[in-house]
Amino acid sequence: MPLNETQQHLLRKLPGIDRILEQARPDPFFEEVPKTLLTRVIRSLVDDLRQAVITGTPPVDEADMADERVMRRLKAHIDCEMMPRLRPVVNATGVVVHTNLGRSLLAEAAVENVARISRRYSNLEFDLVQGARGLRYSAIEGILCELTGAEAAMAVNNNAAAVLLCLDTLARGREAVVSRGELVEIGGSFRIPDVMVRSGALLREVGTTNRTHLRDYEAAIGEATGLLMKVHTSNYSVVGFTKAVTGRELADLGRAHGIPVMEDLGSGSFVDLADYGMRREPTVQEAVAAGIDVVTFSGDKLLGGPQAGLILGKKSILAAVRKNPLTRALRIDKMTLAALEATLRLYRDPRKAVEAIPTLRMLTLPLAQIVHRAERFAEMAAAEAPPRLNIRMLDRTSRVGGGALPLQELPTRCAGIEIDGISANGIERRMREHVPPVIGRIEDDCFVLDFRTVRDDDLDIIVSAIRSLLTT
Ligand SMILES: *Cc1c(COP(=O)(O)O)cnc(C)c1O
Repeated sequence: MPLNETQQHLLRKLPGIDRILEQARPDPFFEEVPKTLLTRVIRSLVDDLRQAVITGTPPVDEADMADERVMRRLKAHIDCEMMPRLRPVVNATGVVVHTNLGRSLLAEAAVENVARISRRYSNLEFDLVQGARGLRYSAIEGILCELTGAEAAMAVNNNAAAVLLCLDTLARGREAVVSRGELVEIGGSFRIPDVMVRSGALLREVGTTNRTHLRDYEAAIGEATGLLMKVHTSNYSVVGFTKAVTGRELADLGRAHGIPVMEDLGSGSFVDLADYGMRREPTVQEAVAAGIDVVTFSGDKLLGGPQAGLILGKKSILAAVRKNPLTRALRIDKMTLAALEATLRLYRDPRKAVEAIPTLRMLTLPLAQIVHRAERFAEMAAAEAPPRLNIRMLDRTSRVGGGALPLQELPTRCAGIEIDGISANGIERRMREHVPPVIGRIEDDCFVLDFRTVRDDDLDIIVSAIRSLLTT
């Protein structure tokens, strides 16, 4: 399409790259900015302006070509480029174990231990008593066995890796017997049947979707059986006319036939959440006590530690797992190990763990405290621009997230934010684009913030995000 006169005029006004560079040179703001980066950002800024003139979106006029405005945009773009891409955000979704927002926040003790260990050399794989090569898992094996009663323990990259590794070690080329009611999919890319295929185990399904009996497992046992497996249905619940075999029953059956028994616990909690008014989730200690030979679970779900896959169980089985060459490919790194060890040590006093581990603290937060935080926010925000800003307190429920405790409803207090002249989608986007970003959700055409997952020092950030919404 030929350009009209206004467009041609605007294109003539388009600032040149050299001219912008010239103006930027004496400005101390650009002192630390590498020249190649500066040139690249200027070029893309000018390109964007040219495209905007040609296509009409976003609309531009002569004022956008003015030096001052171009320089302001350039600085904003440079600020953005100089900031790391992985950045902290305010989680106001109320989803505690939010996989897209980094799952679990580390306890202070864990953060400090990561810094302490990563700044210096450490005894990561060095036995200080023997003065010889040691085992990477020594840092966590003792405390894991102490906390759970397991004979041996180790950790790998994540629970998906733990499941893959155990299946590969125990059931490669053999049959792994699993209930049809436990063929779980966790968030798209991790499906128990697919992981089994990858590991080379042959999936032997037994029972039905809603009912599986011990006799179903028993009938499946034969020459080719390598493993009996139980998967905790962590992200859904089968209700109604149901029957599942307990860990103890399966462990006894395995022992009677000399076949190892594995359980993928998924979220794997050390504390009984029923003590805090939540639904019961089988604890790791219970699975070990039931006699399961090898138990796996995540480090960053209900445990509230770093991303990791924990493997606990019988000495002989863990010895075989450690010998598997896959272990080397899936191994845990020292920063994660430092965070994990510090987190695990907190569990020596479960009451303190619930206070010190953010995931557990947020899950067990009394409603009164959430209400208090929400009201403090409303007061702070109300001072901003009352006629345009409307804040409503809403009673809602937060979710555990991370595919754990799907039926658990956690009563919470939210704030619904409405701003005259800006749609809910507009508010959501602008809050998300704020630095630091504030992530909430839209509900019935209203932008909603849930204060369960908001920290006290997030309140100022949210208020300043709203302020910048109101002023620009
Ligand atoms: C979450 C989950 C996994 C995967 O754990 P990651 O630590 O995310 O790899 C595997 N099995 C079950 C049952 C789960 O709930």
